[in-house]
Amino acid sequence: MVSADFDVDLLVVGGGSGGVRAARIAASHGARVLVAEEYRVGGTCVIRGCVPKKLLVYASHIRHDVEDAAGFGWSIPQATFDWPTLIANKDKEIARLEAAYTANVEKSGAKIVKARAVFEDAHTLRLSTGGTVRAKHVLIAVGATPNHGTAIPGIEHVISSNEVFHLPAQPKRILIQGGGYIALEFACIFAGFGTEVTLVYRGDNILRGFDEDVRTHVRAEMEKLGIRIMTGCTVNAVEKDGSRFSAVLSSGPRIAADQVMFAIGRIANVATLGLERAGVELDAATGGIKVDPFSQTSVPHIYAVGDVTHRLNLTPVAIREGHAFADTVFGNKPTRVDHSDVPTAVFSQPQVGTVGLTEQQARARFKSVDVYKTTFKPMKATLSGRDTRILMKLLVDGESDRVVGCHVVGPDAAEIIQAVGIAVKMKATKADFDATMALHPTAAEELVTMRTPSARYGR
Ligand SMILES: Cc1cc2nc3c(=O)[nH]c(=O)nc-3n(C[C@H](O)[C@H](O)[C@H](O)COP(=O)(O)OP(=O)(O)OC[C@H]3O[C@@H](n4cnc5c(N)ncnc54)[C@H](O)[C@@H]3O)c2cc1C
Repeated sequence: MVSADFDVDLLVVGGGSGGVRAARIAASHGARVLVAEEYRVGGTCVIRGCVPKKLLVYASHIRHDVEDAAGFGWSIPQATFDWPTLIANKDKEIARLEAAYTANVEKSGAKIVKARAVFEDAHTLRLSTGGTVRAKHVLIAVGATPNHGTAIPGIEHVISSNEVFHLPAQPKRILIQGGGYIALEFACIFAGFGTEVTLVYRGDNILRGFDEDVRTHVRAEMEKLGIRIMTGCTVNAVEKDGSRFSAVLSSGPRIAADQVMFAIGRIANVATLGLERAGVELDAATGGIKVDPFSQTSVPHIYAVGDVTHRLNLTPVAIREGHAFADTVFGNKPTRVDHSDVPTAVFSQPQVGTVGLTEQQARARFKSVDVYKTTFKPMKATLSGRDTRILMKLLVDGESDRVVGCHVVGPDAAEIIQAVGIAVKMKATKADFDATMALHPTAAEELVTMRTPSARYGR
């Protein structure tokens, strides 16, 4: 079929991180592009993910700064916090970003239709605003959606990260179920605002999949902030009593709360997308769309990027995948995305920054592993009096001397790990780290001054 038989060369379903980048790059390669977005341009990251969350993280951190000020000679009158002001200001900034994203897509020559698109067949998609679009290529970039798990009694009272950004009032008490980064971030955000926070997680410790030392350290630090962490149990029911709730835990206790939030996982947004009519296959293990290294699905002219493929659910990854897809299909430049050594952060308080392997993974992969680990009191805490410690950890392949993992828990850990990520990606060795002059006085200088392994494993 020639291009003229189609309304567009590319229909992008979903105007989030991956879809927007793919649309702009494909248009720059000369493709006729239409983006269908059912909610707001910018997607999860901009509208109800990374960006608004980080604004809330900043807001909640101010409490700690105010508390820490006394030791530095400042006396600050009783500070008060107003949730509606924060939410209104956040909403204004998100609207500005949404407009900027829309303008950038349109500037590239791609068009946007504010509609839900679902497959009628492999080339035809129906728009919720009426009519159909025939597309030569389709990019599925519909992201993921919160998954509340099995339907417990009272599940209708439970909010997710979608609703938490729009609560009309700050809850005095919140119960959050989940042990991943979203659950921890909101636990710390609310604790910073003075909300009484209970975190409930079914596993034995939070942050499954992270380095064990990181998990233990973060938990201890969060508990110092007054967050109650209950592991090894789940919420079995949520009962409503007026405007209050009572969460019934599998271990017995009932926890009273003004809000109950679940952040127990996200699933690919494929329900009712009509994938079966297009012949697009799912990955049975993850529930995401099955793709090859070029993001091509089981149907050759249909591609999928971002969270819907459930590879590595992060914004920069979705953007890279969207860009690589557009270069591959419309730029005559086949491009794979390298998903190794991707730096990630948890914007808890304190933050976690991590790149590369955990100690457990490194010891499973390499014959010999050197562990360099330190915990210390940050300089700021000497005067503020805050009871907190930083954790830094390097994992080194004993044979090649390569640094294969770096983990930081402490202030600015995310900023630190973004830069360390370059070194790890470049396969820097421990000798390279040692040859790097320390920058004093910083916390990050510990990463280049740890000389003696705290443990050495061989097999
Ligand atoms: C609370 C939270 C915090 C996060 N924090 C971070 C962070 O700090 N750092 C980070 O890297 N990542 C973070 N993420 C993850 C990040 O937001 C996602 O990885 C990223 O947005 C994925 O981009 P995407 O393009 O795959 O999908 P999305 O950005 O989710 O975009 C998908 C879009 O498709 C639209 N859509 C869905 N179905 C249809 C349809 N049938 N028709 C038309 N439109 C449709 C949706 O409305 C949505 O706009 C966070 C996520 C959450 C929920």
